[in-house]
Amino acid sequence: MTRRPYIVGNWKMHGTRAMLSEARAIDRAAQRHMKVEVALAPPFTLIHPIHREAEQISVGAQDCHHEDGGAFTGDISAAMVADAGAKFVILGHSERRQGHGETDGLVRAKAQAALAAGLRIIMCCGETIDIRESGRAVAFVGKQLKASLPPADEAPADLAERVTIAYEPIWAIGTGTAATTDDIAEMHAEIRKLLVELYGEEQGGEARIIYGGSVKPENAAEIFAVPDVGGALVGGASLTADSFMGIALAAGEPTDH
Ligand code: PEP
Repeated sequence: MTRRPYIVGNWKMHGTRAMLSEARAIDRAAQRHMKVEVALAPPFTLIHPIHREAEQISVGAQDCHHEDGGAFTGDISAAMVADAGAKFVILGHSERRQGHGETDGLVRAKAQAALAAGLRIIMCCGETIDIRESGRAVAFVGKQLKASLPPADEAPADLAERVTIAYEPIWAIGTGTAATTDDIAEMHAEIRKLLVELYGEEQGGEARIIYGGSVKPENAAEIFAVPDVGGALVGGASLTADSFMGIALAAGEPTDH
């Protein structure tokens, strides 16, 4: 890994103000783990309260709309989450692709809106179990990513800083069974090839690729040892400071101070 490992918690639809104490505990622990970049994507309602108090972690959103504003009842724009304190947004998560019918084209439009609003993005991709078992996982993820990411001529010049890819096999999310290290290594190498092909060595060669899907303190070290795993997107295990920071610890030793 050339950059600090990036460990991002996705709280999904979990968390009321009662969870602010957990976010505070994560922030305090992150101050002792400066070798790791720790970030949290709580529900929209907690972005501002966590941002206001956080000293170390960055806060992000789990989605945003592709338009700047307008008659879109119940939606929220990239500029709005940025205004609330979000520094990044997770896009194309399988729970949105599958549960909300988000197409690659829509995810790409959201990516462009988020980047235009000054946010960093975490672009999720991943295959179903059927696709994996039929041997089409690499081809599927390549096609999905190519259609979801901004085209090269519309990509930001500092893409490596602002775009992170999260490889999240759908069958590994929330199941307790992570992908094998061989499967992760193969997919990350293919994603890296694609990023270089799309954006060139300087940006595509440097953008982070993180893994998500049942990462826990117990399996984090072996996953982080896989070549080109730049961190993790963590769902269930990010809901308590103990387990989330157990994962961060596996990515980098505590800082002495
Ligand atoms: C996720 O939903 O992004 C995720 C990786 O979930 P979990 O860690 O619970 O598998």
